[in-house]
Amino acid sequence: MTFSIHGIAVARGIAIGRAVIMASGRVDVAHYFIEPGQAEAEIARVRAGRNAVVDEIHRLQQSITQMGPKEAPHELSALLDVHLMLLQDEELISGVKHWITDRLYNAEWALTTQLDVLSRQFDDMEDEYLRERKADLEQVAERILRYMKGVQSPVSHPPVPKRKTSQDLLLDDSVDVPLVLVAHDLSPADMLQFKQSVFAGFATDVGGKTSHTAIVARSLDIPSVVGARSASSVVRQDDWVIVDGDAGVMIVDPSPIILAEYGFKQRQAELERGRLSRLRHTPAVTLDGQKVELLANIELPEDAPAALLAGAVGVGLFRSEFLFMGRNGDLPDEEEQYQAYRRALEGMEGLPVTIRTVDVGADKPLDKDTHHDEAHLNPALGLRAIRWSLSEPEMFRTQLRAILRAAAHGKVNLLVPMLAHAGEIRQTLSLIDFARAELDNRGTPYGPVSIGAMIEVPAAALSLRTFLKYFDFLSIGTNDLIQYTLAIDRDDESVAHLYDPCHPAVLKLVADTIAECNRQGKGVSVCGEMAGDVAFTRLLLGLGLRSFSMHPAQILTVKQEVLRADASRLKAWAEQVLDAEDPASMLA
Ligand code: PEP
Ligand code: MG
Repeated sequence: MTFSIHGIAVARGIAIGRAVIMASGRVDVAHYFIEPGQAEAEIARVRAGRNAVVDEIHRLQQSITQMGPKEAPHELSALLDVHLMLLQDEELISGVKHWITDRLYNAEWALTTQLDVLSRQFDDMEDEYLRERKADLEQVAERILRYMKGVQSPVSHPPVPKRKTSQDLLLDDSVDVPLVLVAHDLSPADMLQFKQSVFAGFATDVGGKTSHTAIVARSLDIPSVVGARSASSVVRQDDWVIVDGDAGVMIVDPSPIILAEYGFKQRQAELERGRLSRLRHTPAVTLDGQKVELLANIELPEDAPAALLAGAVGVGLFRSEFLFMGRNGDLPDEEEQYQAYRRALEGMEGLPVTIRTVDVGADKPLDKDTHHDEAHLNPALGLRAIRWSLSEPEMFRTQLRAILRAAAHGKVNLLVPMLAHAGEIRQTLSLIDFARAELDNRGTPYGPVSIGAMIEVPAAALSLRTFLKYFDFLSIGTNDLIQYTLAIDRDDESVAHLYDPCHPAVLKLVADTIAECNRQGKGVSVCGEMAGDVAFTRLLLGLGLRSFSMHPAQILTVKQEVLRADASRLKAWAEQVLDAEDPASMLA
């Protein structure tokens, strides 16, 4: 039966495919497709894993029988019996075989998929004792996975599968149908693993529009919906689903009529993309001749080609923290960072690159395990971004040296996140001087950088004089500026309806920052999601903004809006919007 789940629209477009439900914590498991001829070898790997765990349990049982009745707890041997029974359950292995042979999933992916299928069967059981056996099942699967981790797969990771159109899908049930990932939550680091993704769409239960998970989803340019609350529990493995990333809706088990309708929308979107791609080399100039700079936000140096392809004239925000995440605390050293920044510069073929110093904390933990760190009840207000960097001066100077060294190879702007206090500004600038002195002492070459600050905290937007005294340029991080102005956790879907870029207070802070920079002849850009949202392009132009930084996927749509705009006329209108009680009504 067809039903829909409403969430928050994140990345545009429509994906139609079969659902892959991924339990949290399973994302580290490799996901790739195998060739049909490799299926036997993959099944053998799971079998070998299972047999190894069975042997391990037999050995444990033996050692228990050698113990005296006192030391050998009865519960333990009963538990081992249950584990053995689960391991030998035909449904486990036959299910895994199905995912490998019929769907060509690699062994680990097949095992976790079948685990999810069986877990749901346990959830539905009336008997409480049986329901609780789900935990045992997860334990045995975990042990098989651990064993398999130590045994290399003979299968190489094949490329991303072909994507089919919905028309094909109406008729087709073969192995290379698109897949839509449905998960409770995905950390930004998890999302990064999907850059070379086999998935055609994503949906998560939690997350807000500008949560970092959503931002990475947008950068993948794959239709996505977050905050779809119950999606991962009500959608079943292998269900047909449609992710409508424009409307923020997920449709489960669509009827043929709905499939056809969405297939049509999908084709329209493809045509529109083709049309927009012709604007790639067109300079972004308004009707009245105002030049506008459209820059790219990137997470990794490897994103540079997509930025160039979209016609970006530089990188306005390189979120360097993605180099630091998911490494179990093993932070990249100076050389590794230098090489990464240099690769980004080279990838941009001589165009300027704005490297933001590390911004971890809040919803961008270094590692998954710290994601729900209860010791820090409100991480968004805690030790994040520059606060963390200043508390780890060694780490920070290492990053600064790497950025300065990269600046010898091209135009680098160094951007500092989340400053609020004059003291933090002075401390940051003296650490930059210190890093330069360290390079001088070592005789290591480095280049000049422009230094800028992000305006992300209302306190910063209200202290522009101080900021402009110290910095060459400012970049407005509207994602955080909205979060901190309105006291709305950008990661929390339950207050997502109050996360309002159009709130008059937010618009005033943005407008004042742009105006003051323009008055002083200092560079100013917006690099939050607002810059890539075409609903705000005219307003920002009217407020005097001439530099926008966004995900490459959004650049051409924004460029189209710029080409149609008359900036001088928009000025008076923007002033009215600023004065309105309900500015959103004037943007519609
Ligand atoms: C912002 O806050 O608007 C911004 C661009 O930084 P991030 O989204 O990485 O916090
Ligand atoms: Mg920010």
